[in-house]
Amino acid sequence: MSHIATTSRASLALREEIVYYCRESVRCGLNFNTQGNISVRLPAVGPEPEAIVITPSGVRYDRMVPEDLLVVATDGTVLETGTGYESSTELPVHLAHYRRRPDVHALVHTESTYVNVLGALGRPIEPVLLNMVLYAKGAVPVMPFEFSTNAAFGERSAELLGDDVNAIVWANHGLLAVGHDLDAAFKVAVAVEENAEVLYLAHQAGEPRILDLAHIAVPDGARLP
Ligand SMILES: [Zn+2]
Repeated sequence: MSHIATTSRASLALREEIVYYCRESVRCGLNFNTQGNISVRLPAVGPEPEAIVITPSGVRYDRMVPEDLLVVATDGTVLETGTGYESSTELPVHLAHYRRRPDVHALVHTESTYVNVLGALGRPIEPVLLNMVLYAKGAVPVMPFEFSTNAAFGERSAELLGDDVNAIVWANHGLLAVGHDLDAAFKVAVAVEENAEVLYLAHQAGEPRILDLAHIAVPDGARLP
């Protein structure tokens, strides 16, 4: 039974997709407990300015329902309160990233293990797997540890991420993956964690070969994400 208002900026289908990926992030080992968050950009419609739909704070993913999500204007004003939960504590950080990257339409924040191993060591996550190169586009930078709930942190994170790469590590915390849609952003988060694990293990055994997208011969007609 759904109680999404027909006037909501975020459709039931989109809300269901976000809840699906929240649960999927736990199933894939990218998050534990209520960690992580997801948002999607909502285009301007007539006089309604651009906004985002974002997961609430502190809600167990197996109990989260589409109605719990909040719709927030790009200036941070809550437009739709959902079922009354607060928005994710990283809302200002999400908004800063959307401002900096017009090509980005979805953000997925995860706290996966090998991303955090390399982040705790202060090591950028260099690509050693093809999927990582295709989805993240390059080495994922590491932002030194600090609390991640304010706009200034978000602006610095967006600056360090830059225009070309699709993920950034927040040291001693987790990963922010970005994409042109939610499916792409989630694939970035999965690819970076898988790559971080292989990179870490490969370093134990020797010197892994690092991949550079600019130097990979892509066959004619190959479909890239
Ligand atoms: Zn977090």
